[in-house]
Parts: sequence; structure tokens; C-alpha cells
Amino acid sequence: MSDSASVKQDIQQLYRQLIKQLELKPRWGQKQMIATVANHFLSIDMDVDGHRRDDNPVCLVEAGTGTGKTLAYMVACLPIAKALDKKLVISTATIALQEQIVQKDLPALKKHGGYDFDFQLAKGRRRYLCVSRLDQALSQNAAIDPTQALFEDELALKLDAQQQTLYKDMVVQLGSNQWDGDRDAWKDSLAEDHWRPITTDHKGCTNRRCSHFSQCPFFKARDGLEIPAYLTLTKKKTKHKYMIMLPHGGPNVKQGVGFDHWVQFFANKGYNVIQMDYRGSTGLGTSHYVAGNMQWGKKMQDDISDGVFWAIDNGYADADRVCIAGASYGGYATMAGLTFTPELYRCGINAVGVVNQKSILEEFSTKAGMMNNWTDEAALEWGDLSNEEGKQYVKDISPVLFVDNIIAPVLVLQGTNDNIVPPVHARELIKELKRKNKTYMAMFQAEEGHCVKCGGEQASLEYFDIQEEFLKKYLEN
Ligand code: SF4
Repeated sequence: MSDSASVKQDIQQLYRQLIKQLELKPRWGQKQMIATVANHFLSIDMDVDGHRRDDNPVCLVEAGTGTGKTLAYMVACLPIAKALDKKLVISTATIALQEQIVQKDLPALKKHGGYDFDFQLAKGRRRYLCVSRLDQALSQNAAIDPTQALFEDELALKLDAQQQTLYKDMVVQLGSNQWDGDRDAWKDSLAEDHWRPITTDHKGCTNRRCSHFSQCPFFKARDGLEIPAYLTLTKKKTKHKYMIMLPHGGPNVKQGVGFDHWVQFFANKGYNVIQMDYRGSTGLGTSHYVAGNMQWGKKMQDDISDGVFWAIDNGYADADRVCIAGASYGGYATMAGLTFTPELYRCGINAVGVVNQKSILEEFSTKAGMMNNWTDEAALEWGDLSNEEGKQYVKDISPVLFVDNIIAPVLVLQGTNDNIVPPVHARELIKELKRKNKTYMAMFQAEEGHCVKCGGEQASLEYFDIQEEFLKKYLEN
């Protein structure tokens, strides 16, 4: 890293501050560990785009109890991650350590270190109760008469007395909202052989087809908001199940139902199409609308990703044949999908999409009669540039800053007369795609404005021709 001296200073400052504020004694082993971790990661050789040039990225440290390991690696790694604009992932072997880090260490570091960062706990599906499996376990158990059971596996379903009491208690606690189905929130520790039969994984979960979906603790943890979606199925027989995820623009509009040139074009070419009213869309009540505030690239994007999972789980899409496409906010969602969840998509079509949130906020605030009366609402929904938290949010969700993450080919469509999302967004994106050596195609259409089908017949045909070429090349092959 070119500025490794200043990062080292940040690390030292953070450590000194914590020692002082928490009234800790500096420990020799801890200091040695901080220095080792910091020196190792700061010496990794990278090119100007931040790609590693050497093959020595792993640092393995063994240290005894009482060294203060957690504090040591966090103090060393957080400033480095921040300087590189990366996320730091901490993986723990035990729940006890996870709780210590999430509930104690990270909040203390944030509070006493005077160091600004965010953290989130990511838990797998098996940490949550599967209501469907709990229901099955209890009902199958009730149906088995041990005196008449013929086969061993039938008897294996028989719950012992302790399991029966536990599972029944879970039903009561869940029903009375005293427990949310999170294993870590259960009042006692749970034996693995009691917990395992009542959880499931991605393959075992029937998702929205599950009759318990609305009470599912795992999906509720993702906040469980109902997202209506619309599916258009192609009539064409195809080699694979292709799917176009087509989030609408706006974002504050409702997905219309009716004839849509774009949807029909995709269906005509052999691709199923899914559209949805992700949070932030209108027409579904205030709570659905405001749930989108400051959720660009975050929960609004999760709703779109969940739509992809749903389509795959329900047999409408092959997991490796999904393309994301959209215009305006839909173009933003396309680029957010390709940068924040790159593994979901085989390719993406971004038409007149926002890629730099700071630019769009600044542009809108200077447009007389357009957004001048809407500045407060924009700050609430799209990000507030008047404070540090808002500035960070705007940075975190701007796809053009994360082009490095893209693995799928991108098609960029831009009307040169667009006065809503000006061509500067497409140009900035193309510059980054080129700089990072990504696969892309682009078209600047002189007749088009902020639209993919309103610049006249010739312009529309040109747009559709290039999409057809792109999809044949990158979605079908
Ligand atoms: S949605 Fe999946 S995890 Fe949830 S209860 Fe149903 S099967 Fe279990």
C-alpha cells in the first residue's frame, strides 16, 4: 500500500486510544500480534487497481489465552480495511465468541476507540428454527404408534420425552412472541441432536411455497416484507430456463400490469421475465414506501435478490442463466446487482441508470422546478449529503465505486438527450469498466432521452437489436 505509514499511524492511534479509554495495560504479546498482522497485510503487493500481485495473502497467528487476540486483530485490520475500502469479515468458531465480538468487543471498539465503522452479524439458515420441520416432527411423532411401527426409520422419527417437551415449548414460545426462532435467543443451550432435526438448509427449504413462510424465523430475520412480483413466461422452447430480472424504475412508482414492449421483447426471445414492487415502490401503503428509505443497494436490492432465489427455487430460472436489466432506478438496481451480488447474474443491461449517487443528488438539487421542492425527501430516501453518515451511505451504495466486483458482462444503454440521469453516469461507468478490464458493450442513442422506447421507432429498434445481440452472446452462451 502506498500510504501504509499513515495506516500504521491510525493503528497506533486506535490502540493508544483504546488502552487509555478502557484503562487496559498494554500487553507485549498483543502489541506483537498487532504489528505482525499489520505488517503482513500492509506488505501485500498490489497494482494500481488494488489487485494482489503476490501470492502470500494469509497470515496465521497462534497466541495463547490472555493475549487479547480479538482486540489485536481488529485494531490491526480495521484501519487497513478502511484504507483499502474493503469489508472485514470475522468468522468465529463458536457462538460464545460471536456473541462476545458482536455484543461486547465491536461496540466497545466503536465507542472507546473513536473509530467510525459499521458492523453486521451474518447468520446461516441453520441458526434459525424451520417451523415446517418442527411441525412435521411433532405431527409425525404423534402419528407413530411404537407398538405397530414396522421399520426402524419410522421409529427413528419418534421423539424422546425431552425432545417432545422441548419442541412443544418452542411452539408455545414462538406463538406467544416470546421467542423469534433464533437458536441463539433460546433461553437454554440446545443440544445439537435436538436442534438439527428442526432446522433446514437452502435445499430443504421450499421458500415461498412453504405454508409456514409468513411465520418463518429465517425470512422474518430478513424482515419478512411481502414483495409482490409479476411473472411473464416465454412460450418459446429453450435449451435452458433463462430469466430476466427486470426491476422497475422510479423507484417510487408501482409496477404496472399491461402490455410492455420490453417485457414482450424478452419473452419473445425465449426469456422468462420477473418484475416486482420492491420496498420503496408506491401503491402498497406508506409502510412499504418508507421501507425503501436509505435502502438503495441494501434491502431494496435484497428484495430483488430474493426474487431471483424465488424464480430459481420454483423452477422458472436456471441458477446460472439469470440476467438483470432495468432503466433509470432499474438501471441502478442492475449495476447494484452486478457489483454487490455478482454471483447471481450471468449478465446485466443497464439503461439510463444512476451509478453515482452523489452526482445524482447534486444534479437534482440544482435543477430548478424539478427537485428543488423535494430536497428534504431526497435526503430521506436517497441519501443526505449534509452529514457524514449520509455521505458514507451514498458512497457505500454507488455501483461505480465497486466496478472491481463485476464478473458478468454489462450492456450500457444511454440516451444522449437524457436530462434526468445525464449521460455522465454512463460515461463514468464505461470509463471504469474499461479501466478495470471488464466485458461490456455500450450504445449512446442520439434520439433517446430517459427512456428505452420513446425515441421513435428507429431508436427503439437499435436499442432492441443490441440487446438481442448481447443476450444471445452472454446469456445463452
Ligand atoms: S420457509 Fe423454509 S426455513 Fe422457513 S419454515 Fe418453511 S421450509 Fe422452513
